[in-house]
Amino acid sequence: MSIRITIDGHEVIAQHGDRLVDVAADNGVYIPTLCYQRGKPCLGTCRACSVRVNGNVMAACTVPVSDGMEVEVNEPEVADMRKALVELLFAEGNHNCPSCEKSGRCELQAVGYEVGMMVSRFPYRFPVRERETAPEKLWLERDRCIFCQRCVEFVRDKETGRKIFSIDHRGTHASIEVDVALANKMPDEQVREAAELCPVGCIIEKGLGYNDPIGRRKFEIKSIRERALKRKHK
Ligand code: SF4
Ligand code: SF4
Repeated sequence: MSIRITIDGHEVIAQHGDRLVDVAADNGVYIPTLCYQRGKPCLGTCRACSVRVNGNVMAACTVPVSDGMEVEVNEPEVADMRKALVELLFAEGNHNCPSCEKSGRCELQAVGYEVGMMVSRFPYRFPVRERETAPEKLWLERDRCIFCQRCVEFVRDKETGRKIFSIDHRGTHASIEVDVALANKMPDEQVREAAELCPVGCIIEKGLGYNDPIGRRKFEIKSIRERALKRKHK
């Protein structure tokens, strides 16, 4: 059923129940995301897509649109709140982009640019999380994990369907873990997909790194904003 909503004061027509983040993209309004991927189940973990809906702050990936909804995306206070959320993600890990294999291909870095982040307003925590290097084809640079749960939900053992990645503990003690035996069964292609799926440089494929020269890396060729807005036309 067709409905009308307003986004930043502009009326748009959408289908009842569509996800707000997709409706915005379909109408040329970029809302940053880190855990959400169009066409996949919503995880709602990163909150980077927070907007105001009828006066209340909500994660746009979790909101089905309904008639008459009033949405604020680029109102300054809302935009600054999203920026603060991204800054928090940087402050909670160790993100030294120039020395990171994912630089130029990293969604967190790309979203940081999109929200205009220069430095975190929050104190950096400098967590100490041991690197996991046991799997044959990949390793985990745990300090960069933003706990989006993409790998946990979407990377499964092809035979049994069992989860290969998991998150242990909670809060400041949370840690991304991998089932080494299952990881060692992953075909090369699946390892590559998992490394690509990770929005940051936490899951890294062994034997690869810095493959694309500066200037030719994923988000240097096309920004994360352009990619998000283009997907709508498919
Ligand atoms: S994971 Fe992304 S944000 Fe973190 S250091 Fe690497 S490139 Fe930078
Ligand atoms: S390892 Fe990557 S994909 Fe998995 S939870 Fe951490 S950031 Fe997300």
